[in-house]
Amino acid sequence: MNINTASPAPATPAAPIFNGEVSSLITDLLTALGEDPEREGLARTPGRVSRMYDELLAGYRMDLGSLVNGALFDTRNDDLVVVENIEFTSMCEHHLLPFYGRAHVAYVPNGKLIGLSKIPRIVEMFARRLQIQERMTQQIADAVQDVLAPRGVGVIVEGVHMCAQIRGVKKSGMRMRSRQLLGELKTNGELRSEFLAMVLDRRSRG
Ligand code: ZN
Repeated sequence: MNINTASPAPATPAAPIFNGEVSSLITDLLTALGEDPEREGLARTPGRVSRMYDELLAGYRMDLGSLVNGALFDTRNDDLVVVENIEFTSMCEHHLLPFYGRAHVAYVPNGKLIGLSKIPRIVEMFARRLQIQERMTQQIADAVQDVLAPRGVGVIVEGVHMCAQIRGVKKSGMRMRSRQLLGELKTNGELRSEFLAMVLDRRSRG
């Protein structure tokens, strides 16, 4: 089974978690940057940025158990399941700038399948936090392992980092690729090559 998926549906908007605190800190930040936070263009910026962080960091409020919500199904299929092309947007914890890209998640079932929509939600749960890509890759793999106890898990994440695009080395077009392999996807060379070939094949198709 090889499934292409678009970006996950946005999480249900929740009540703001940051209230006025982030907003007033953004006002302080604007002042510290030498700006006038009361001028017309900036007057509503602190509230806007606070609401944006509510959305971009919503993953802290998600919980794996309620996210999966029992959407596990018995199966006798013991071959590779790949959910590829899962779009994500995250925030680099070193610079508070976005990084974004695609995740590809595979597992080898051990009697259980997970509902198709749940894998993108798992990616979203870890992407919508302050992150580094390598840790996010590992957390996605560990979560699939915890939920399904499959025979193997493979996660590949390809990310474009704004902190590398617009500052420092300024390498436009540079992408980071990270991966985490667990169980048979780590130890079984044939399965591993099959997974990697599927993802590479997708890339060559554009
Ligand atoms: Zn960064």
